[in-house]
Amino acid sequence: MTPTTAATAPATPPAPAPAAESVFVRIPALAAKYGAVNLAQGVFDHGPDRALLDALAALGDGTEHQYAPSAGHPLLRAALAGYLRLHEGTPIDPDTEVTVTVGATEALHCVIAALVSPGDEVVLVEPAYEQYAPAVHSAGGTTRALRLAGPDDRIDAAALARVVTPATRAVIVNTPWNPLGRSLDADEWRAVADLTRRGVVVVSDETYEHLNLDGTPHTGVLAAVADPELRVKISSVSKSFAATGWRIGWAVAGPELTRRIRAVHQFVTFCPPTPLQVAVAAVLRAPGTPAVLERRARDLRARVDGFVADLRAMGLPATAPGNGFFVLADVGEDAERWCDRTIAEARVAALPMSVFYADPPAAMATTVRFAVCKRQETLDEAVRRLRRHLT
Ligand code: PMP
Ligand code: GLN
Repeated sequence: MTPTTAATAPATPPAPAPAAESVFVRIPALAAKYGAVNLAQGVFDHGPDRALLDALAALGDGTEHQYAPSAGHPLLRAALAGYLRLHEGTPIDPDTEVTVTVGATEALHCVIAALVSPGDEVVLVEPAYEQYAPAVHSAGGTTRALRLAGPDDRIDAAALARVVTPATRAVIVNTPWNPLGRSLDADEWRAVADLTRRGVVVVSDETYEHLNLDGTPHTGVLAAVADPELRVKISSVSKSFAATGWRIGWAVAGPELTRRIRAVHQFVTFCPPTPLQVAVAAVLRAPGTPAVLERRARDLRARVDGFVADLRAMGLPATAPGNGFFVLADVGEDAERWCDRTIAEARVAALPMSVFYADPPAAMATTVRFAVCKRQETLDEAVRRLRRHLT
């Protein structure tokens, strides 16, 4: 037989090592296997805000069912710019500074790919959301962590400055902060914004921006960093509108940075579903929306406080968040072991805090996170199961 060209083809490179499975893949699957109440994942057990459903039902049968421009439907980009001007006081050009993505997840991926080249370093402030480090690594960068020991610990300017090197391209912060349940304070913002003087881009994950349970208005990167080319705001409808399955998010950055973000985004998803973009645009423009968001925050406050009181009554020292819907509790033993056992035996899933650290500090190694974004009856059932198990 004549040798085929395949015989002379270069050797196939070794298959890359499989990426570690996300905790948000592993634990919900385990919860389903045991019939556990899933308080491990920030996912709602009910529909989104009514306004989103009404806006979806009101869609016509025209081009809103076709591809949108890759940067995002013009109605949604305009609505976002209008919302940001009104609520954060920052003028944003919807044509050059907004990119609509498939959730904050895709926004983070595209922003990091746009910013980071092999050899670059990215500073993560731990506890850090699970996606950040793998996204940096897949862009060829490395991470350096500033590790906070717990909710009361603060970003210290000197400690932050020490993890920055000449190779630092960006710092990623998250406010309100999953899982700490608080927002960056003015001193922390100053410390972070100060890094822009060394050319470091501040990537701010503001996915929980409307869940200010303590009533303090949100302060984000648009207010903290003046240079649009040195800041990126990332957010989505997932948590604010109880719509994690809609997968509508966005990245807001200066025109040059946006051009690079869009260059990645166009070949990742091209655009998120257009009908959902148009529905979100209508909701952001509706005058009643701020009141809807405030009502949600009040409702979450009541559920979070009730859950914290129930945990404390069971002897678990629990901390109520000021923002967001994550409750932290010290279980007094290795949190990963506790979570595995509690899923199987109590049929309640929680998340070990260790997943937010490369190397968890001692206090966090025994701490778990409960996501309290559930109906009251779901929380009541979880409390009944935990009480039976723990007493
Ligand atoms: N950042 C943080 C801190 C999160 O907790 C999440 C999960 N909601 C995301 C980003 C991703 O959000 P999205 O559902 O919009 O992709
Ligand atoms: N961000 C969510 C959390 O921290 C989960 C995200 C996901 O399930 N993909 O719980």
